[in-house]
Parts: sequence; structure tokens; C-alpha cells
Amino acid sequence: MKPPIAFIGAGGAHDVHLGNSAALVEWEGKTFLIDCGFTVYPRLVQLGLIEKIQAVCITHLHDDHIGSLSALLYHRHFISRLEPLLVIAGTPELHAKLYTLLHFLMGEVERFADLRLSYPPYVEPIPTNRLHAPHMPSCGYLFSGKGGHLLYSGDIGEPIPVLKDPSWKAQHQPLWAFHDVAFRRSPTHCYYEELHPFVEEVQIWGYHCDPAQAPSDNRVPLVHSEFLLAAL
Ligand SMILES: [Zn+2]
Repeated sequence: MKPPIAFIGAGGAHDVHLGNSAALVEWEGKTFLIDCGFTVYPRLVQLGLIEKIQAVCITHLHDDHIGSLSALLYHRHFISRLEPLLVIAGTPELHAKLYTLLHFLMGEVERFADLRLSYPPYVEPIPTNRLHAPHMPSCGYLFSGKGGHLLYSGDIGEPIPVLKDPSWKAQHQPLWAFHDVAFRRSPTHCYYEELHPFVEEVQIWGYHCDPAQAPSDNRVPLVHSEFLLAAL
């Protein structure tokens, strides 16, 4: 079975031609958007998806992950005339900072967004604070349901710690993992060689990169070939 995920874009922060990394996950009858960077809102409008989204999961506050969130929220409130959108910011620090940012941008946040820490029992945050950038609260998300588990790492400088935990992995089968991958070493994104030990073990796909830069020894399958929603 193919994981129920479609990427709107899967590029790195500066791969504008590939779109910011963001994905739609269809889970237990609900449509979740993961992240809403600066290229995402225009794509959602073009694809006619603004009203389809029922919740947004935010991994962290860099522009390529939240740069058009307020545009999405304004559109749904003023044009679509929908109820406040469920927005999940999965750690207390991320939640507080996102609230402050939206308050600064939009005023009364509650008119536009229903900001929460999680969406039990289907969506659980996996905190990754400081593993992407030292000042930046961040988290991945785990979607759980009858069909299995889908793990989305968010931006992270190393393999997401739960993947290194055998008992966690045993409790979360079958598991599909979508993971940040980079082809240059840096403290902020996961170097592809560090994901190689997991390739045989779980179904894993890399995103947040330019596939044209992949070295010939890369063994991490990339979402660009299988999971893009539409040609960009
Ligand atoms: Zn980032």
C-alpha cells in the first residue's frame, strides 16, 4: 500500500523551483497540510485545495515552513468564510512562538486559527527542539491509525531520534518515514549517509533537497519521483 501523502513541494529552503517542502496527508478521513512555506499558498490556490485542508501541522518557524500560513488563514476566513482552521504546533515553545507571531501579523489569532499542541489520537508531535537550529523549537509528527504509522521528520540535522530506538520502532509497525535529507554536510539538515542504516529497515523517503544534487552513492529514495502532487 502506498502511504497517503502527496507533497506540494519537496525542495530545500532555497530550491524555489522545487517548491518549499510541504505535504498533504489524508488520515482517518481528514486532510492535513504539513507546513505552509512561502511558495505553498499560491500552489494551494492554483490546485483548488484551500477549502479541502482541515488541519495544518507546523514543524518549525522558518519562512520556508510558515511563510504563507497567514495568507492561508486570511483566505479561509475572508474569502472561503470558514471556521478557524485547526493548527497544530507540537511543542509548548513552538506553540507559544507561533501564537506570538500570528498575533503580531493578524491580531486576534482565535478568529483565524484554533491553535493546539496535538490532535489525539491520530497526530502526535515528536519533539526535535534544537536538532535543526539552536534557537528554533521544532518537531516532527507521527500519524497513527488502523493502517499503520506515518512519520514526518521536519527539518533536522541528524536522523530523528525515534528511528534509532528499536522498541519505539517495534511498537510503530508498519512505519512509513519521510525524512529531511541533504547532500552537503551541515548541522541543520540530515546528511544522506546518516540515513543509509535505516533504508533496509523501514520504508523511508527523503525530502527537502534538490534531487539533481544527489551523489551517485545515495541510497535514500527521494519523494520527488513518487510523491509530488503535481508537476511544478
Ligand atoms: Zn528550517
